[in-house]
Amino acid sequence: MKRARESQALRPPAFEYQGAASEAHPAELYCEAVALEGIAARHGTPLYVYSTAMIRARLNAFAQAFRSIPYTLCYSVKANSTLGILRLVASAGVGFDVVSGGELHRVLRVSRKAASKVVFSGVGKTAAEMELALRSGILLFNIESASELQLLSATATRLKKRAAVAVRVNPDVSAKTHPYISTGLHQHKFGVPIPEAQKLYALAANQPYLEVAGVSVHIGSQITDVGSFQEALERVADLVRALRDQGHDIRYIDAGGGLGISYEGAQGDFEKQIAAYAKAVLGPLRGLSLHLLLEPGRSIVGSAGVLLTRVLYRKTNNGKRFLIVDAAMNDLLRPSLYGAYHEIVPVNRGTRETEIIDVVGPICETGDFFARDRKLPLVREGDLLAILDVGAYGSVLGSNYNTRGRAAEVIVNGARAKVIRRRESLRDQLRMEES
Ligand SMILES: *Cc1c(COP(=O)(O)O)cnc(C)c1O
Repeated sequence: MKRARESQALRPPAFEYQGAASEAHPAELYCEAVALEGIAARHGTPLYVYSTAMIRARLNAFAQAFRSIPYTLCYSVKANSTLGILRLVASAGVGFDVVSGGELHRVLRVSRKAASKVVFSGVGKTAAEMELALRSGILLFNIESASELQLLSATATRLKKRAAVAVRVNPDVSAKTHPYISTGLHQHKFGVPIPEAQKLYALAANQPYLEVAGVSVHIGSQITDVGSFQEALERVADLVRALRDQGHDIRYIDAGGGLGISYEGAQGDFEKQIAAYAKAVLGPLRGLSLHLLLEPGRSIVGSAGVLLTRVLYRKTNNGKRFLIVDAAMNDLLRPSLYGAYHEIVPVNRGTRETEIIDVVGPICETGDFFARDRKLPLVREGDLLAILDVGAYGSVLGSNYNTRGRAAEVIVNGARAKVIRRRESLRDQLRMEES
């Protein structure tokens, strides 16, 4: 007899359980139309799995929310820079925000034509990186200091290439997020205080190969209080009016990235969240007649990825329970680095029985954990777990600590699963070394 089909969407439209959960017939977690247990059996663990449908849905949500204004979405490459992800994003016709020459190379690898929609951010651009960006014909340089402006001017003059510039201002607005990913206060290294920015514009306007084109702002990451965006953009809008009064041709406002996602349980309705974000961003810009640039990273790819890991051992120390899994902080650093919360679920969910347990990796560091004192369904050694919402700042922060190869990455599109980064071998790891 066929069981009633029952599904529970964990992260729609990407990840859902199929089948009724019972001891004999566990509900099974899918990515789109592909069973995660099958992908893990085929490609091994730890394994990153991404959903094409989720990334497309998020790109569409941005397009919908900002359709009332001329704008270009520049996906922030540092959130997830795997070529397969960049190719998918590029195929939607959007641009990119890069923070290094290496990231620009990655973008050019998937699409030469995307260069005209690239913005280059970051506090420490080198002359070589500027040269690459100038030769590639990028859209905009976000300048973060007077010294950087001088170097860009000299580099552009030497190459006889014009550079469109925006000054990234530091609006002194609190992003109300984790201190490591908050960037918009004067105590942070990012941006230029607004009064000083005015001087940089005057300086830039006198350089033969620099073209003053915009104002940029980025106040941090994982921001859930949209009021912070509004406050920052009100200050930016005032600056734009002042700069225009001084005769500068400001065409772009780059509002940065930073929109947060829900890491806890049922996803709030993203459409609602992005509508609130769009309102906060667009309100202060009313009447300014500008081209808006946005640099979202996490909100595009964060919920689109899971990290699959198998339980190696169960262990109890004086009554405290541990699940030792085959993924570690070298695969996913966010819990160790930020104390970040990631929901963890069994890929096969049969029992309703739960326990309080720590989920930890094999690395020799007490900081190597994914969850502490977490209530989880009872699982056995050999069972497969999915760590959710790891599409952003997951694989990109991977390392070889403890001589562990970096995890493989797979992208799912409907019923197809494709490897976009193979598992790193020991030979890959040792290739650069001599003894
Ligand atoms: C990191 C970063 C982003 C992306 O931030 P998200 O929180 O991932 O949206 C955008 N712009 C700049 C300048 C950044 O440094």
